[in-house]
Amino acid sequence: TRSILLNERPKGLPTESTFKFTEEELPELQDGQVLLKAFYISVDPYMRGRMSDAKSYVPPYKLHEPIMGGIVAEVTESRNSKLPKGSVVLGNLPWQTYSISDGRGLTPVDPNIAPLSYYLGILGMPGLTAYCGLLFIGDPKPGETVVVSGAAGAVGTVVGQIAKIKGCRVIGIAGSDDKINYLKEELGFDEAINYKSTSDMRGALSAACPDGVDVYFDNVGGEISDAVYSLLNNFARIAVCGQISLYNATSQPMGPRVEPILLKTKSLMKGFIVSDYADRFGEAAAGLAGWIQEGKLKYEETIAEGFDQLPHAFLGLFSGENIGKQLVKVAGY
Ligand code: NDP
Repeated sequence: TRSILLNERPKGLPTESTFKFTEEELPELQDGQVLLKAFYISVDPYMRGRMSDAKSYVPPYKLHEPIMGGIVAEVTESRNSKLPKGSVVLGNLPWQTYSISDGRGLTPVDPNIAPLSYYLGILGMPGLTAYCGLLFIGDPKPGETVVVSGAAGAVGTVVGQIAKIKGCRVIGIAGSDDKINYLKEELGFDEAINYKSTSDMRGALSAACPDGVDVYFDNVGGEISDAVYSLLNNFARIAVCGQISLYNATSQPMGPRVEPILLKTKSLMKGFIVSDYADRFGEAAAGLAGWIQEGKLKYEETIAEGFDQLPHAFLGLFSGENIGKQLVKVAGY
């Protein structure tokens, strides 16, 4: 099998030397084990956190061991009666072309229900994050104004579309004109702002949100969020989903104090991790699948081809190379 290991803990933005490619023979399968062949490997912003040696909600990756993440794979050999040869599974697995598993934590997925890549995107962790964070924290009402940052990514595209389905005015913030056009033309966002070409974010947001902001779904943090806070309405809800603008920061940046704004507007600000809502994943997955079937929810993915592309695809998340969910296709189904 070919593997990608964590070669060194990055300081600031990871580089190619954060990763190391290796190749080794896998041992014979033991009773209860399966051999898995990776089809799609997910790259996700939270993995940056695991590359550092800091305490978080998931433990750090170990140095000189494979990076782990969401993978859709096929069972190509089996000594486990619950996972016959030919079954397809979703799991948190090592970045390897082939891997051995005892089956624990693997979820069978059905290639006839949806394309396999969807289980890492709209029907997987990012889709569930969008659904649960927006509906259970944001609680958007018809006619309200919803702002989403990181709007053209895996989570953001779904958040904005659900907010439209709920009858809201939706404003997206993203980092290129192509993304802005995509959000407005393809996904029906009411307005979208390119934060990279806008010098006055507060002014641009204020023009796009004449009635203020009722719900802010935050994927990025930093100065983009500072601009949004100044426009919060009374009883606004802020779902703090991600802070990607800070994941590579080597010192803690200071912003305006947010507490006086929360106090004056009586707003609710809540951080969350998607697994907090595990007991509602059934409902969320059914909701997402239903909207896809009805044609109300569009889905975009950026798929790099080949195992070698994994580091590059991961790094691209921080320069915004992806529209929708970024995946790497390692083998064909
Ligand atoms: P995306 O598909 O949105 O990819 C990341 C995007 O972030 C890039 O495309 C880029 O788009 C944008 N970005 C990168 N750097 C910056 C920056 N400095 N400032 C502003 N935008 C930036 O990733 P996901 O949809 O998977 O994740 C989105 C966020 O949600 C992340 O912060 C992630 O950590 C978080 N998350 C949280 C979960 C939870 O349980 N709380 C679960 C899943 C994700 P652009 O061109 O617009 O800059």
